[in-house]
Amino acid sequence: MGDILSGLESMGLGSLSEVDLFHDKEKKVEKKEPEKPVEKKTEEKDLVYEKGVECACCGYSFKEKTIRLGKARMISQDMDLRPRYEEVDSLKYNITACPRCGYAALTKEFTHLSPGQARLIKDKISINFTGLKYENDTYSYDEAIARSKLALVNSIVKKGKISERAYICLTLGWLTRGKSESIAEDEESRDMLVDMLSNEENEYLKKAAEGFAEALLKEGFPICGLDESTFTYLLAALNYETGSYQESMRYVEKILINRAVSERIKDKARKIKEAIAEIRNAGK
Ligand SMILES: [Zn+2]
Repeated sequence: MGDILSGLESMGLGSLSEVDLFHDKEKKVEKKEPEKPVEKKTEEKDLVYEKGVECACCGYSFKEKTIRLGKARMISQDMDLRPRYEEVDSLKYNITACPRCGYAALTKEFTHLSPGQARLIKDKISINFTGLKYENDTYSYDEAIARSKLALVNSIVKKGKISERAYICLTLGWLTRGKSESIAEDEESRDMLVDMLSNEENEYLKKAAEGFAEALLKEGFPICGLDESTFTYLLAALNYETGSYQESMRYVEKILINRAVSERIKDKARKIKEAIAEIRNAGK
């Protein structure tokens, strides 16, 4: 064929330089596999955007990082209902915190603040608050944990609902779990860190279980947006996870004997029951 097509290489068309000028096909022209369009993987930073917020405590206007969860893919849920998304740990973004006065709360509760509560926060938090600092456009686990702790102390100071405090403890437990899972395999002190975080997580979950049990006596449903059966299940799961098997079984039985509870939740409760039975058998 001569060299009349040589030089195509420089245009990236080298594979075409050997084709027969007049005799189509049959001749095996090595066709390159058509390149698959590279699908850009959605990352955490793609889902984060800033939303304008006016502080319910001091009136300051600021921007808060939040996520477009509609674009994230939920892949699973842990036994204690912690949601898992493929691209992002959504729990890092469920707190709104004012950078000026230090008022922080679960985002959906942020605007619910009475004048009396605002006064308590100003007197006990704002007066000492020195600000929040962030490294990047997305929140690290440590930053998210610090924000949740700020929300927790706010909830205590403003005398928020027990269930709200318990839920923030649960969030802290989930974030600690997320942080532990994010430690690189080759991190030198990995085992030690995982151990330490597992203990911390356990403490948070215990506090959450304790607070939710109290909320059950004092508050009406829905509690933290959960109906009675889901909430009872959550108590069963938290008690199971923290080793209070007897307490866990008490909630499991409550679920299993209640005809009004959906099969989906009963199935989840049965899994806990089986897991406890296994542990008890192994202990014998
Ligand atoms: Zn403020």
